[in-house]
Amino acid sequence: MLPRMPPAAPSTRAPALAEVLVALEQAYGKPAPPRLTDPFDLILLENASYLVDDERRVAVFDALSARIGTTPEAILTAKPGVLAAAIEGGGMRPPMRAEKLREAAELAHDMDLDRLRAAMRESPEQARKQIKKFPGMGEPGADKLLLFYRCAPSLAPDSNVLRVLVRLGFVHEESSYDKTYRAAKQAVAPELPEGYDAIITARELLRRHGQTVCMRTAPACGACPLAKRCVFFAASGGIIRTSPAASPDGPISPGGCAPRRARPP
Ligand code: SF4
Repeated sequence: MLPRMPPAAPSTRAPALAEVLVALEQAYGKPAPPRLTDPFDLILLENASYLVDDERRVAVFDALSARIGTTPEAILTAKPGVLAAAIEGGGMRPPMRAEKLREAAELAHDMDLDRLRAAMRESPEQARKQIKKFPGMGEPGADKLLLFYRCAPSLAPDSNVLRVLVRLGFVHEESSYDKTYRAAKQAVAPELPEGYDAIITARELLRRHGQTVCMRTAPACGACPLAKRCVFFAASGGIIRTSPAASPDGPISPGGCAPRRARPP
């Protein structure tokens, strides 16, 4: 559940997405392209870890790849204890996560991954139904797979991206996460940049902003390069104090970590 936002000031509108992306790229630089783009790799990446950061997720995927393999067959032939040990670094309850990997592998084996990949290219909406059968793959997961495999363009916002979009005013928070997700996806669709690479870059920039500055419980508006374009900031009266080192429109470090003293009501 996203934190409740104060109502937007009527005269404040969301900025253009392109303008937001330029400001974010100036602040963070251009993100590297994602290392993993294959649908089954992404399903394993999602299920092998729980509540850990991106770096750890990739490390756990690499450990799985080195010790077991990342094909459905390799996962199905691994002993449960060995599988759980391979992904131990991925957070809580390794046996439960190992079971999810087995479930995903069984499904992939039955489904035939080559057929799934072909379906994603030829009939993304049909493939979406198949993808959603995998553990951890709801609508956002299916959108991400279809985006990263370059089959259906959408921003596929994760919770960090969604929070930024709500606060900037692209969409109002709805009564459920799913509704807000769908509304946000629809709201930014006409403004998406051209081409899969550019959309993936846009998603990564917004995600990074949500992870490092526009955080869930304490957004660092005082150091945010988007503050002057932000509905949430405007609704706070724009009274958050800034210093020369942390100006709303000034540069922030690539790490993006800003003073947390600035917290809108
Ligand atoms: S001004 Fe604050 S709420 Fe708005 S995008 Fe920046 S960090 Fe997020």
